[in-house]
Amino acid sequence: MKIKLILLFSILAFVLSMPFIFNKSVTITDPHKLDADDNFIINEWVEPRESAAPDWNYNLKPVKVSDRVWCFFGTLEMPTKENAGDMSNSCYIKGDDSWIAWDSGPSYNFAKQAYAAMSKIANLPVKTVIVSHEHDDHWLGNNYYKQVHGAEIIGTPSINVNYHKGDQTRMVKTLYQDAIRGTELVPVDKSFKETTKFTVSGVNLEYVHVGYAHSEDDWFLYLPDDKVVLVADVVMNGRVTSNRDGIVIGQIEALKAIKSRDWNHLVPGHGFVTDKTAADESIQYFDLTKKRVLQAVEDGVKADDITKTVTLEEFRDKDLYYTLSAQNVFRAYEELEMYSGDDDEK
Ligand SMILES: [Zn+2]
Repeated sequence: MKIKLILLFSILAFVLSMPFIFNKSVTITDPHKLDADDNFIINEWVEPRESAAPDWNYNLKPVKVSDRVWCFFGTLEMPTKENAGDMSNSCYIKGDDSWIAWDSGPSYNFAKQAYAAMSKIANLPVKTVIVSHEHDDHWLGNNYYKQVHGAEIIGTPSINVNYHKGDQTRMVKTLYQDAIRGTELVPVDKSFKETTKFTVSGVNLEYVHVGYAHSEDDWFLYLPDDKVVLVADVVMNGRVTSNRDGIVIGQIEALKAIKSRDWNHLVPGHGFVTDKTAADESIQYFDLTKKRVLQAVEDGVKADDITKTVTLEEFRDKDLYYTLSAQNVFRAYEELEMYSGDDDEK
């Protein structure tokens, strides 16, 4: 009797544990909750703050980069309540009968105020917005251009996959209501699979696909007649980059694609240097990271010690070095530990 009971219990226990034994793979029903490594992102809901304060004044001053390109340059910081997300660069390109916006900044209010400043230069509508990548400091102004100007939004398809109306992005959680109010996540209207040349309002553009580099899917914009390249976050200067969602090898490829174009001015995603040296810091940062991390892997340095062994001393004086560089090295280690090398470099 006792043995029978034990047997019965064992069978019952086995049956109960079956789903755990056999069901090792998890079915992903909500892919936008995954980060670049397919880890679940715990999205803690933050109650929207109310505020009757007047709209945040971004005090935006466009800087003329070339004959028909103006840009707004943000601070070299992480997004905070104090900078209201004004910590990335965005640009306006003057066409024959409309403006083209390159990235739209961190909020509806930012985009609205950027347009107010630009319309003093030329009173044209914004009919096209072109977006570099999915990070929310670069495109949360899209709904201003969509709702007020009826603009077409061109961008990476990853925005429509990873972001949905009502999602609380980093910016939505961080900023005060007076800055973020009015901001809504709107989808991209048009995407391309590969590098595409097109003309908007008389401006020849090459929208260059560099793929997985700084983010899951990066693009830059080349203006061949103006010899200007707007590259967003695959280049930063004056500060250390954030490679949390990126890969070193993809970054190096992106920088090669940028170098291969003929330009006199380059506008980075963050940073103020726009001359022919604008990409140099990023090239050096990623080359050194790759070289040193690969050397450390070869020397058998373990994950726990990698950020002690590999430092980017050359960048110690740059903004955000202490916030981001160790994290970038660790991320590079995760990536390059399995790296088998590219033959053309040997
Ligand atoms: Zn970014």
